[in-house]
Amino acid sequence: MQGAESRYPRRPTRQLHVGSVAVGGGAPVSVQSMTITKTADVEGTLAQIYALAAAGCDIVRCTCNEAEAAEGLAQIVPRSPIPVIADIHHQYRMALAAMEAGVHGLRLNPGNIRRPEHIKAVASEARDRGLPIRIGVNGGSLDPSLYERFGGVTPEAMVASALQEIAYFDDVGFTDYKISVKASNVPLMVEAYRQLSEATDAPLHLGVTEAGPPPAGLVKATAGMATLLLEGIGDTIRYSLTADPVEEARAGRQLLEALGLRERKNVDLIACPSCGRAEVDVIDVANRAMAAFGERQLPLQVAVMGCVVNGPGEAREADLGIAAGNKRGHLFVKGRNVAVVPESEMVDALVEWAEYIHEHGTEAALARADVTVAEREAARDRSALLDAKGADANHAQERIVEIRRTVAE
Ligand code: SF4
Repeated sequence: MQGAESRYPRRPTRQLHVGSVAVGGGAPVSVQSMTITKTADVEGTLAQIYALAAAGCDIVRCTCNEAEAAEGLAQIVPRSPIPVIADIHHQYRMALAAMEAGVHGLRLNPGNIRRPEHIKAVASEARDRGLPIRIGVNGGSLDPSLYERFGGVTPEAMVASALQEIAYFDDVGFTDYKISVKASNVPLMVEAYRQLSEATDAPLHLGVTEAGPPPAGLVKATAGMATLLLEGIGDTIRYSLTADPVEEARAGRQLLEALGLRERKNVDLIACPSCGRAEVDVIDVANRAMAAFGERQLPLQVAVMGCVVNGPGEAREADLGIAAGNKRGHLFVKGRNVAVVPESEMVDALVEWAEYIHEHGTEAALARADVTVAEREAARDRSALLDAKGADANHAQERIVEIRRTVAE
């Protein structure tokens, strides 16, 4: 279901199905990733697919580059928890073998399969089997004739490549395609997708290719995909990171949740950036909380705040939060103090309360708390901290006096 918070009208597209997952036509934007195992390694590939599915991946792609890979797919597909797409480069016969293996869809790179009769043979077979195909144009493997005609890899050249390919599919009456025009250059990729979305109503698969390792790769991919998604462009996405593919799936899911395009599945952890007023190592507590929540399916917003002076107020919209004060953690639910725990138990208490709220709801959590006692304790710590640190927690006034003295000397 599309997230209720989404404020961005989606561009209307046709709908197709990759196995049980609908793509385009108002379906929720789906998350894709790709295994990095040898596809012939059936058990290794399945273990990775299960890890990807747990991290939020909706559709997985496996390379089908040799006969052993196609044979592996025949065993992987029936045991996979999510639909499987075969990635085909160069050899069109591998596409036919993958379809024989039972995959739910194909990805073809038109830059690598250039003979129209081969493309049409694959398209005819996919049409007869009712399988979708992604036409994956890639800035790095553009047809040399288009490169020459457009004077390089330009958005226009990438869109022309996609349209040229579509024509082969249309020739055999095949319309179940989605398209990608990926590039590693973000402005190029964004403009290519914008132009493509004007030229076709086929669903679009977004990605910044070869984005590289995180964090730079995450930033580049997010910059490109978020820009387009906010314009209503994009029906399915993939982060191409030089990292464990589980990170790709997690990032994809988190991006869609952050934009309100998918409902929250796991904890959304928010945390203050810390400052001179912090009573605890916020970075450490936040990281430990992230690890403790892991892939637990608790669709709540949880806050970790460094001080009880400002924390509960700043994070009052969170379902649950904790703020540090005088070596104690003050738990709050929707901005109301509900319990005080020793600093060493902050993370455990957060997990316990999150599970309680998920199971019984916010009202029940507030009802089980001794709110009066918790608020009194929080008020006591708050005023003790204000007495000790005053309003100028970062000692700016002291510094100003010191700067003036230095300059005057
Ligand atoms: S004032 Fe408190 S809650 Fe705000 S950044 Fe500083 S430590 Fe965190």
